[in-house]
Amino acid sequence: MIYFDNSATTQVFPESAERTYHAMTVDFYNPAGAYGAAYSVEKQVERARSNIADYLHVSPSEIYYTSGATESNNIAVFGMVSSARGKKRIITTMIEHPSVYESIRFAASRFGFEIVYAPLNDDGTINLKEFLELLDDRTFLVSIMHVNNELGSVNDLSSIADSIHRNAPEAVFHSDGVQSFLKTDLVSLPCDLYSVSGHKFHAPKGVGFLYMKKGIRNTGGQMGGGQENNFRSGTTNVPGILGMDTALSIYRSNLPAWHEQMRTVKKRLFCNLSAIPDTLLNGPSIESGAPHILNISFLGVRAEVLLHALEQHGVIVSTGSACSSKKLGKNRILSSVGITGTRQEGAVRFSFSPMNTVEEADIASSVIEEQVRFLRRYKRR
Ligand code: PMP
Repeated sequence: MIYFDNSATTQVFPESAERTYHAMTVDFYNPAGAYGAAYSVEKQVERARSNIADYLHVSPSEIYYTSGATESNNIAVFGMVSSARGKKRIITTMIEHPSVYESIRFAASRFGFEIVYAPLNDDGTINLKEFLELLDDRTFLVSIMHVNNELGSVNDLSSIADSIHRNAPEAVFHSDGVQSFLKTDLVSLPCDLYSVSGHKFHAPKGVGFLYMKKGIRNTGGQMGGGQENNFRSGTTNVPGILGMDTALSIYRSNLPAWHEQMRTVKKRLFCNLSAIPDTLLNGPSIESGAPHILNISFLGVRAEVLLHALEQHGVIVSTGSACSSKKLGKNRILSSVGITGTRQEGAVRFSFSPMNTVEEADIASSVIEEQVRFLRRYKRR
C-alpha cells in the first residue's frame, strides 16, 4: 500500500510505540505521586518538555502538554477571549482548521466580538499588505496558521508578527503549527501561542502541546488537579508524551535530509502527474509550498470517486482534511482561494512522510493516470 495521506495522520515510529508501551506497562506511575517511581517518571516528562523547548528555542515553562492540536487551538481561542478586556476584534483567515475557525466563530457570536478575515493570495498565504491595514488597537487576537493543511501554503510568521507589533502591539498572535512543526525550518518562534499535534510526526494520537509565551494572559484549559502549572488539568498522559518525545528526537536527528526526501517525492509526483491533460496545481508553487503537501485537480473527475478507485489499487490519498471530509458541501478552504466548480470537485491532496519514496511516486502516478483516464471516459458516456 502506498500511503499519501500523512497530513491526516502518520504511522507511529516503532521506537516511539515502544517508548509508549514501556510507559504504559513499566513506567506507569502518576508523575504527581510522592514516591520515587513517580518522581522518575516526572523527570522523563520534564526532560521531554525541555527537548521540545530546545527545538523551538523557548523556555520549558512555556510548553503546555495537551491532548492534541484541537485542544491547543481551543485553549488559544477561548483562553484569550476570557481575558479580552474590552477589545473587540479577532483577525483570522477563512482557511483555518475547524478547531480554530469554529472556535472563533462561536466565541465571537457568544461574547460579541467582531471577526475580520484577512485577505488571501491565490496560493493560500495571507496578503501581508492588506493584513497590515486591518490591524489597529481594537485587535486583541490574531490567529493565522503557519502551513495550510490542504494546500501546503506557508505563511511568513515573522512578517505577520512584525505587522502586529507595528499596528496592534497589544494583540496576541496565535498560529496553528500542526503542519509546520518539523516540516519547515524554524529559527525562532515569532508568535505568542503555537499549537502542535504529535500524530502528525509519527507519535501516538491524543497528545500535543501549546507553546505560550511567558506573560501572555490566558485562562487556560480544563480545571481540576492543577497539572501543567495550573493551566491544563488532567492526569498527565505519560505514554503519549514520552512517545512524542522519541518521535521528535528521531525526526530532529534526520533533518534536513527528510525535508529533502519529501520534496523530492512531491516534485516527482507532480512532474509525472502534470503529463496528464487537464491537471492543475492548486496552492503554492512546488518550491514555495511545504515539502509534504501537494494539491492537484483532475478536471472532469470527482475526487471522491478517484479516491475510492485509487484505494482499490493500493494508493491512499485524500480529498481534503480528514476532519472535514465527512461534511457535505463545498470545501471552505479551496473556495476561499478561488478554487471552485469542477476544479474543486476534482481536487486531491497528496501528503508525504519521509518514508515515502520516488518509486512509490512513480507507481502511484501510473495508477492515477490510468484511473483518471478511465473515469473521464466513463463520465463522458
Ligand atoms: N490543525 C491542523 C492544521 C490540522 O491539520 C489538524 C489535524 N487534522 C488539527 C489542527 C487538529 O489536530 P488534532 O488531530 O491533534 O486534534
